[in-house]
Amino acid sequence: MAEKLDKVDVVIVGVGWAGGIVSAEMAKAGKKVVALERGDDKNIEDYIGVKDELRYTNRFQMMQNLKHETVTSRNNMDETALPVRTKDEMMAGTDLGGGSVHWAGATYRFWPYEFEIRSQTIERYGEDKIPKDMNLQDWGITYEEMEDYYDKWEKTAGISGEQDPLAPKRKNEWPNPPLKETPAIKLFKNATKELGYHPFQLAAGNMSEQYENPDGQVLNACMYCAFCTHYGCDFGAKSDALVTVIPTAKEHDNFELRTNSYVRRVLYDGDKANGVMYVDTRTGQEYEQPADVVVLSAFAFTNNRLLMLSDIGKQYDPETREGTIGRNFNGQYNNVHLGARGFFDDKKFNLYMGAGALGGVINDFAADNFDHSDLDFIGGGAIELRQYGDAGIASNNVPSDTPQWGKEFKKNSIYYANRSLNVWYTPISMSYWHNYVDLDPTYKDDFGDPLLRVTFKFTDQERNIAKFGVEKCHEILEEMGADIIDEDEVPEEFDNIFFGGHYTGGVVMGNDPKTSAVNNYLQMWDVDNLFVVGGSAFPQFGGHHPTPTICALAYRASEGIEKFLDNGGQLVNAK
Ligand SMILES: Cc1cc2nc3c(=O)[nH]c(=O)nc-3n(C[C@H](O)[C@H](O)[C@H](O)COP(=O)(O)OP(=O)(O)OC[C@H]3O[C@@H](n4cnc5c(N)ncnc54)[C@H](O)[C@@H]3O)c2cc1C
Repeated sequence: MAEKLDKVDVVIVGVGWAGGIVSAEMAKAGKKVVALERGDDKNIEDYIGVKDELRYTNRFQMMQNLKHETVTSRNNMDETALPVRTKDEMMAGTDLGGGSVHWAGATYRFWPYEFEIRSQTIERYGEDKIPKDMNLQDWGITYEEMEDYYDKWEKTAGISGEQDPLAPKRKNEWPNPPLKETPAIKLFKNATKELGYHPFQLAAGNMSEQYENPDGQVLNACMYCAFCTHYGCDFGAKSDALVTVIPTAKEHDNFELRTNSYVRRVLYDGDKANGVMYVDTRTGQEYEQPADVVVLSAFAFTNNRLLMLSDIGKQYDPETREGTIGRNFNGQYNNVHLGARGFFDDKKFNLYMGAGALGGVINDFAADNFDHSDLDFIGGGAIELRQYGDAGIASNNVPSDTPQWGKEFKKNSIYYANRSLNVWYTPISMSYWHNYVDLDPTYKDDFGDPLLRVTFKFTDQERNIAKFGVEKCHEILEEMGADIIDEDEVPEEFDNIFFGGHYTGGVVMGNDPKTSAVNNYLQMWDVDNLFVVGGSAFPQFGGHHPTPTICALAYRASEGIEKFLDNGGQLVNAK
């Protein structure tokens, strides 16, 4: 029997970057807030001394345990989906701070074109350019409207960066100068400049200097220790929710955080969301937490699943193409972040040092920055060279004709340890009528609730844009002087592996309730006191990493929630 708790203004489900931002903003605004996180309570002291590659990079210690809950996956509607059970096949954040704690820190804003992609594609190339299976949609918000929210997050996070020569001129400078330019990055920049492109230093959530953010949280300068992506930063030098927005929320007595609190349902009466039902995973006790506003910020998978389990909104039906919940599910890593690896005989780079977002980048092949008239795809992405820091176990990069084991492998892996560089393309990922999520009819989680089922396949757009990217990366490595270049192979089909944590859609934003589930404050059209915050709102992916846009939208949603509460519960005007 669930115990009913006292009502609060706002209950927040999931506390990563998105939930952390809403927590801090609501707490600062004086609202009575309860934030529920399924994982353990964490702070940076928990990550002291955890520079253990085997445990974190090879065995994915920080990722969701897929024995208890996972997704099922298939390519086509007539197939039976199977559960994804091994941790190297799906990376989802768990514990306080979510994916922000193990993220790399690569920071991009999406491009003005990407927010208005349908209108601008038609304007420049005509409607025929859009494949008929593609659900290409404008976001219902423009880059100009997003800019202040991006800016607010970049200052809160203390991002280190410099102006991209091709991007719209920023209203404000990045809050911190860029990270160091290593010899590998310099080589990439010189080569791309030589080819006529416009390189710049990748903006990073890794601190170039000690920094105090506008909320008074202090972050330390990065030491380039290389234990960054897949790890929590024990030095407080990687910007994540644990060192920024969560401590800010905790400074307020009107904010309460409850960890080990697994939310199973939104309490919905057919009109309003009245709160949530959750289980304390340490005791098994069920609770009902009533609230005036419910915020789902539990990543795209859980945001979709909780709406479906709670029977909220109209489930997308691929047969009729009606319904919005589950529609336009998408994943950028699904679409192959591919490129090429170069091996150098006459150059050595100190690759054992690095940081998650230490890198060089060009945006000459991003968005609509290049003419697509004669190309067989729409959109683009960044081309990056990253110096993450190569650790000993996972980074045995050898030319492809090297045997997989034995004397020759050992010799080459030692020789090339500091002589190989990867250049990759991060292309846009489009949405289609046949890619969606719904509840699986067979497989269930530990509580007996159906798992989320993903139906996702590639089209020529994904294969063609990836091939284009691989060719460009090859060209750049050639200019960099690589002696051997191994190109990544472009797969024919999505392999049902959810690597990299870039999953979006299913509860998408827009101006039309027929093709979107939330307005541009991420407020549900059907249930006005329910806000669904996160990448679930992306109508399609942009050609860059998602988190800054998720965070900017979380600030936008926070503004909407405050307006909603202060206006006595009115639908926030979408424009
Ligand atoms: C290895 C890796 C590297 C990455 N690097 C980058 C990068 O460089 N740049 C970039 O832009 N992006 C990067 N990402 C993606 C980034 O991590 C995500 O975009 C980001 O963390 C999403 O934030 P979020 O708050 O929406 O979701 P999350 O961080 O996933 O937070 C959701 C929270 O909800 C909780 N939760 C889920 N279900 C429930 C439930 N039922 N009840 C209660 N709580 C629940 C989870 O435990 C989690 O804490 C990376 C991802 C991975 C895996």
